[in-house]
Amino acid sequence: MVARIASGGRYPGRVARINEIRDGVFAVSTDNWRLNSGVVLGSRRALVIDTGAGPRQAREILEAVRSLTGLPLTVVNTHAHYDHFLGNAVFQRAGAEDFWAHRGCAAAIQAHGDFQRSFVGTHEPEMAAAEGPDTRLVVPNRHLPGTGRRPALTRVDLGERAAVLFSFGPGHTDNDLCVGVDDVVFTGDLVEQGADPSFDDSYPRGWATALESLAALDRYQVFVPGHGNPVERGFVLQQARLMRTAIDRTACGP
Ligand SMILES: [Zn+2]
Repeated sequence: MVARIASGGRYPGRVARINEIRDGVFAVSTDNWRLNSGVVLGSRRALVIDTGAGPRQAREILEAVRSLTGLPLTVVNTHAHYDHFLGNAVFQRAGAEDFWAHRGCAAAIQAHGDFQRSFVGTHEPEMAAAEGPDTRLVVPNRHLPGTGRRPALTRVDLGERAAVLFSFGPGHTDNDLCVGVDDVVFTGDLVEQGADPSFDDSYPRGWATALESLAALDRYQVFVPGHGNPVERGFVLQQARLMRTAIDRTACGP
């Protein structure tokens, strides 16, 4: 793996860490919320996975992306939690037109996106106040096929390379989406490394099933979680087992 550093631009001291996982497949890690974004380079387009919690974090991510490529950008949001989509406007200003997501993610952002500003006031005061450049909500305009209640899959052509977007149904949220390319998969918050999974608006049984299904996909060797370090299949299986145990204990307990 190759580590590179991009400077934090307008916010000195802020550095996004770039980890080249495979040729042209990068994790871009920013400090706030320990977020991992992703970048996949094709010959004609680059795909950016998750945009941060507002314009400050999004600019850190964009600067890292632009240190890697000048290609036109397409964006994916892995789910409708604030740290994964509130930076979309920065990428729209940078020329991105297609914002992919689970259908339920777009609906959730439409319905609850403004409310989620209240979670980011410390690190993203402009976003919280909805004041200043690039603080508008950008709702994903390209969706996985189907209703979103069943597994679904689509391909996004980047030129000589495609990313596969897929969902397993309700899990961490009711609108999770994974992005696979080569033997790497960006899992959003379905997989959490270095912190306990957040159950706030989750579907624990569906989540355990989704993790088992994800681990069963033999083609993937590197799993990049929404937060924390990339992990291997065994970690995903272990998280699935822990979740099953917790569910069983809760169901069978006194
Ligand atoms: Zn989340």
